Amino acid sequence: MLNTLRKIVQEVNSAKDLKSALGIIVLRVKEAMGSQVCSVYLLDPETNRFVLMATEGLNKRSIGKVSMAPNEGLVGLVGTREEPLNLENAADHPRYRYFAETGEERFASFLGAPIIHHRRVVGVLVIQQKERRQFDEGEEAFLVTMSAQLAGVIAHAEATGSIRGLGRQGKGIQEARFVGVPGSPGAAVGRAVVMLPPADLEVVPDKAVDDIDAELKLFENALEGVREDMRKLSAKLATQLRPEERALFDVYLMMLEDAALGGEVTAVIKTGQWAQGALRQVVGEHVNRFELMDDDYLRERASDVKDLGRRLLAYLQEARSQSLVYADNTILVSEELTPAMLGEVPEGKLVGLVSVLGSGNSHVAILARAMGIPTVMGLVDLPYSKVDGIELIVDGYKGEVFTNPSEVLRKQYSDVVEEERQLAQGLDALRELPCITPDGHRMPLWVNTGLLADVARAQQRGAEGVGLYRTEVPFMINQRFPSEKEQLAIYREQLAAFHPLPVTMRTLDIGGDKALSYFPIKEDNPFLGWRGIRVTLDHPEIFLVQTRAMLKASEGLNNLRILLPMISGIHELEEALHLIHRAWGEVRDEGTDVPMPPVGVMVEIPAAVYQTKELARQVDFLSVGSNDLTQYLLAVDRNNPRVADLYDYLHPAVLQALNTVVRDAHGEGKPVSICGEMAGDPAAAILLMAMGFDSLSMNATNLPKVKWMLRQVNMGKAKELLVEALSHDNPQVIHSSLQLALKNLGLARMIGPGANKTL
Ligand code: PEP
Ligand code: MG
Repeated sequence: MLNTLRKIVQEVNSAKDLKSALGIIVLRVKEAMGSQVCSVYLLDPETNRFVLMATEGLNKRSIGKVSMAPNEGLVGLVGTREEPLNLENAADHPRYRYFAETGEERFASFLGAPIIHHRRVVGVLVIQQKERRQFDEGEEAFLVTMSAQLAGVIAHAEATGSIRGLGRQGKGIQEARFVGVPGSPGAAVGRAVVMLPPADLEVVPDKAVDDIDAELKLFENALEGVREDMRKLSAKLATQLRPEERALFDVYLMMLEDAALGGEVTAVIKTGQWAQGALRQVVGEHVNRFELMDDDYLRERASDVKDLGRRLLAYLQEARSQSLVYADNTILVSEELTPAMLGEVPEGKLVGLVSVLGSGNSHVAILARAMGIPTVMGLVDLPYSKVDGIELIVDGYKGEVFTNPSEVLRKQYSDVVEEERQLAQGLDALRELPCITPDGHRMPLWVNTGLLADVARAQQRGAEGVGLYRTEVPFMINQRFPSEKEQLAIYREQLAAFHPLPVTMRTLDIGGDKALSYFPIKEDNPFLGWRGIRVTLDHPEIFLVQTRAMLKASEGLNNLRILLPMISGIHELEEALHLIHRAWGEVRDEGTDVPMPPVGVMVEIPAAVYQTKELARQVDFLSVGSNDLTQYLLAVDRNNPRVADLYDYLHPAVLQALNTVVRDAHGEGKPVSICGEMAGDPAAAILLMAMGFDSLSMNATNLPKVKWMLRQVNMGKAKELLVEALSHDNPQVIHSSLQLALKNLGLARMIGPGANKTL
């Protein structure tokens, strides 16, 4: 059964649009189940009726014509009950409705299963048979499994059609809306540039080209590149492989010939398809043929063809990235955005970001917020590889993306972009003013940095120090570990730019969703795995080089503070302190005269919350990482869009934990700051100030908004709001009561567009 399912899903997945996808489904399911009829009905959201979209066995002329409301017929019943229905004789059922145009009176037995995608019924899959009989359990299980698998495939095929401006029945439609999760606030109207993962043939889209000769040339160059690689590889392995094993390289070379794959791709390019699309098509056909064979040896050949395809694609992609010209309003779209991608688009041309994977708390979203680029994450239903070159609207407030927007919608969003620009301009006036409440409480606002551009932005916004410099960002953009000298130069730039203000440099915090291409960490549970201090304590050479570079960079400036991430207990802290002292001794022995900088720990693991006092005794300061603390306290992966709704830093458990940390740190006489995204949410910042945090560190984009808010709220009022927030046990109630209070104070402006979470 699994094999049949796999084959059907694979075939449906490669269908070019919804109509052909549904055609394949009904044909293959009918064959696999040996039934006389298989039909798919889809719920049309506009008319709220189940429409017959494809059938094998019923009269095909009734496709698109026969439809029923949810309270009509057996199909309506399956859809509303969201359960399979298995009937020996359909006509006996009180809900049976007869449609003369389908010719269905000839069929007695009926088995229907709902097609459900993301909790919503999208259609019903039905099989029917002439003779009266109850379908057995195995058949029912097969249909249910089939429809569960097909739900996503149907949604994908439908979305692909809508991107090309096609509705269900193939008629033209206007915009389509895709829902993800907010990544970075703001709105953008622009054109999509898709960044495809390297050498992944499956996601390469079709694209028509005018300059066929240029594509043929590109393909010829790619062929030559791969031929050359094969020859080199074969020569290199000459002494290690037996001649018959080396014959594989000759097979590869033959496959590239005109008479084989090479010629077939060329023929497709000549029909007007771009080289990458032609390659995908030809390789896909060969691979499918091999994979469907029952002979093990021949099935294995599929992987040779795939390998060759990947090699050719890598050459084609490289050539494309060198010639890519970015439009002025580029919206970067990718399956998984990475910090390195953000740097690819020239300054000033990037207006929006869209990622299929990840959520609002993924690190790439944090960087996007720092850059002030509207971003939507977790757009799991977007056939992202197909949107290259089309117009998009990114709504980073609601976490929505529109393809092919109508004139009205485009105007609406262009107005929002303009309003945002004016709001930001108005806030610029706050730059020189201190962050002080009307009743005189001073709240230092610091900034989080990582990208080089953050420095200029932070200075424009009047930051009073750097509360978190994410050193892993320059590591992630590199192709190898930066040397001590290279690190020294990078750190010196940060320290000098902010001098005499303090700069808190966090030691390398990789792992989780922060990967280094040159130091891959593959784990089933990366956020609970080898991350942050765990990696660097296991690799003291990395830790020592980094801390030595930081110390040397601070010579003569003396504004360095060192921060340790992911500390879960005293033993890790002591080991790290020991290494820092060792590095300090070494650099002094080498003649660099620097004082021992203040050292702090991040409180971002629940274990650290309960050890605040013990940790505080050994360090100079603490800094709460509310991003990770929220994910670990609530057991919600910060990177997973499916559970993004559950991730909430105003959850009562998070608020209680933060309150405890401040109390215990102050009990030991140590200052405590907070550098998670929560600190940059103007409404949450009021509660944090009331708790007694000594400073708030946030992205430069949000700093003026937080300053504006805190300059309006008395400390007395903030404390009242905190008491109220802590009295509720439901996160939703905390959000609403905070919003209401701010509205009553006339401060709702900053909790709308521009805030993080309390929208
Ligand atoms: C945090 O976890 O809150 C934090 C500031 O660190 P990061 O987001 O880099 O994990
Ligand atoms: Mg963290």
